[in-house]
Amino acid sequence: MRKCSESANGVPFYARKSAVSRNIEESDLDFRHFRCCGDEDLYPFGCPRCDRLMVFCYECDTLHGDLKNLGSQEFPVNSVDSAHPVFVCPGCAYPFEFTFIRDGRYKASAERWVNAGFGHLIDSTEQS
Ligand SMILES: [Zn+2]
Ligand SMILES: [Zn+2]
Repeated sequence: MRKCSESANGVPFYARKSAVSRNIEESDLDFRHFRCCGDEDLYPFGCPRCDRLMVFCYECDTLHGDLKNLGSQEFPVNSVDSAHPVFVCPGCAYPFEFTFIRDGRYKASAERWVNAGFGHLIDSTEQS
């Protein structure tokens, strides 16, 4: 019997163990690094234009826009007007649509996170 397609077999992408180009998901992040509201719900993603990696807390609408300086959370976020971008990329001003979280294309691979020097932000149980 032949399997028809990858996506039809019911195994979610993130659950597959081939670590090569696995995308970083919320559960991969080491939450200890991100302090905004105390009830962090974090969405890791990358800018499609300049490749900047960022994390958005959709609990309190805080953009952790500079992962090299996690204390800095002074990035303007529009959390009320769905007709406008939720924020723009601090690096290149790329506008992220209000519902960008629903669009999986902003997710970035584990490889990209490690290569960018942010491997320490990923839960250490995932790294070895
Ligand atoms: Zn938060
Ligand atoms: Zn950018």
